[in-house]
Amino acid sequence: MKFLGVDIGGTNIDMVIYDKTFKHFATYPTSEYIEKLNEILKKIIKKEKIDAIGIGAAVWIKNGKIVNAPNLPSIPDFGDVPIILDNDANCFALFAYKTFAFENLLAITIGTGIGSGIIINGKIYRGNGLAGEMGHLFVGGNKKCGCGGIGHLECYFGGKAMKEKYGKEAKELLKDDFIYSTEEFNLFCRVVSNAVALISPLAVVFGGRIGMNLNEERLKEGIYAYLPPLFDPEIKVVKDSLAVAKGACLMAMSKL
Ligand SMILES: [Zn+2]
Repeated sequence: MKFLGVDIGGTNIDMVIYDKTFKHFATYPTSEYIEKLNEILKKIIKKEKIDAIGIGAAVWIKNGKIVNAPNLPSIPDFGDVPIILDNDANCFALFAYKTFAFENLLAITIGTGIGSGIIINGKIYRGNGLAGEMGHLFVGGNKKCGCGGIGHLECYFGGKAMKEKYGKEAKELLKDDFIYSTEEFNLFCRVVSNAVALISPLAVVFGGRIGMNLNEERLKEGIYAYLPPLFDPEIKVVKDSLAVAKGACLMAMSKL
């Protein structure tokens, strides 16, 4: 059987095909291709004989229904070929789980914004649907967040917020370890340590355009500075820019 995994990000759309192993299939710039995505997918399904599709995107799902999908023009429908749409951070969490096999883990993506997914006893924990929105935890101040709230972590840390404050793109933030010297990185580490104290995961796994380029030791140092003494999660970084697309693929496989 063949599965297609699609990661619809703010910048790029990444596609992988799983046919015994993962293969990178294509990458498109989101702004140019998002409107024709359904047509492209239809062609790929036919040509590659795809059995199911998984899509990871910035979608908020509540009670099994999509309540917010800012990057999607419409929810695709491909007739007989099942399609599974899920939050991109959940896709990343599933990929992290399959990679490291930690039964309990917290997966965090840092890109334009911050996403997170929680694996509890080998399963994605969803709560009432919105579990794991770490980027929208209140950290203080009255900056307005993209979600409509105020003072959320994403207002300070993440590619967009950091660019607004320092005028630096992701690459420059990472250059010469600049990012680790910022108060925002410190704030982020405090929030991660709070989340660890709350759910006690075996590991915290990082990914995303910025997250995948962070240093495990620097992250560990930052997070452990605030952790209660008995907590000792492993800190891992997934250096794979296709992790969300692969997770979306796994999502499709698990549903079929
Ligand atoms: Zn928010």
